[in-house]
Amino acid sequence: MAQGFGAQTFSALARVDPAHSWIRDRKGGLELELALSQGVPYRIFTLDDPRRVVLDFREADWSGVQGDGLLRSDLAGEATMGLVRPGWSRLVLSLNAPLALQRAALKIDPDSGSAVLTARFIRVSASDFAARAGAPYDAAWALPPAVQKAAPPRDDGVLRVLLDPGHGGIDPGAMRDGIRESTLMLTFARELREALVRAGVEVWMTREDDSFVSLEGRVERAHELGADVLISLHADALAGGGARGTTVHTLSKTATDEASRKLAERHERGDILAGVDLSHSDDVVADVLMDLARMETQPRSEKLADAVVNGLRSAGLPLNSRPRRAAGYSVLKAADIPSILIEVGFLSSDRDRANLLDPVFRAHLSGAVRDAVLAWHLADKAEAPLRRQ
Ligand SMILES: [Zn+2]
Repeated sequence: MAQGFGAQTFSALARVDPAHSWIRDRKGGLELELALSQGVPYRIFTLDDPRRVVLDFREADWSGVQGDGLLRSDLAGEATMGLVRPGWSRLVLSLNAPLALQRAALKIDPDSGSAVLTARFIRVSASDFAARAGAPYDAAWALPPAVQKAAPPRDDGVLRVLLDPGHGGIDPGAMRDGIRESTLMLTFARELREALVRAGVEVWMTREDDSFVSLEGRVERAHELGADVLISLHADALAGGGARGTTVHTLSKTATDEASRKLAERHERGDILAGVDLSHSDDVVADVLMDLARMETQPRSEKLADAVVNGLRSAGLPLNSRPRRAAGYSVLKAADIPSILIEVGFLSSDRDRANLLDPVFRAHLSGAVRDAVLAWHLADKAEAPLRRQ
């Protein structure tokens, strides 16, 4: 049952050999050696706030490699690795000190074709580090540019929903018993899409496979497509406390409770561990949140969240004891698009995990969410003339 969720789709060519790879402190600096089954294009850069080293590879397969296994270092704190998008892999090292790349080389064995990537980082001052940090612009590596222009509003009565399966690629989200939140949410999003499409809703997804998409990228996608609604799907794990059942979240400057604050924080951390350059985003979230108070979107999001809670309740599906919550989720910050985040259950709960792995349960859940979204849409349309004045 769980096998399908652990399955990965890689189009990788080079395999990383963990037995002959390491990252360790040496002669006052940090040294890295990665054994690859063949040479691949790579690039290395650093990011600030927090300090990280990012190594990007074309077509490298990190499956079976554990960050903890590679790392023997006090200068580096944590290593995460995985797909950034199909065919593009990334290794992100969190740094405990300001370090700069001194040299890097890829040596390819002429006989076997296997390759060894070596890199050495040396200590620099904090200001030096800050000056050098940032993802270099290189057309060959650039992600597709974000479309700045929002789609023109359409008035054909068709509801357009952007489903956002949480996490993905280098950021697997919660993991329990070999189940990755990112994979499980992709499965559920596909099923929910199917249920919505059958009801005449136009549906898009922020990701169609196991690739990484930044939180900002997800919101941009909603604008670019002209989505009417964004629904982010998660199944996180909470240590202790025995949290279980579905919770539905909306955006708020202050979190309704400690668990929601931690969940929101963990989602931001996913972007940091995945090597997203946050240095240019400034503190726009705070401004947007201020604006939201004056906008009509927030009450619409609240009503959508209420509709989902009520819909699940009347369908007899397991809700959390406090099912409506709010926190500062970046993925919900689109100022003009009603947005909610559904924690469909907690992977840390045995009961929720068993439910979410059961296709029959998921069918009930997607049906109930679909019905709630449709009911909300009808009520929302009826109120539209009042909003436009
Ligand atoms: Zn999550």
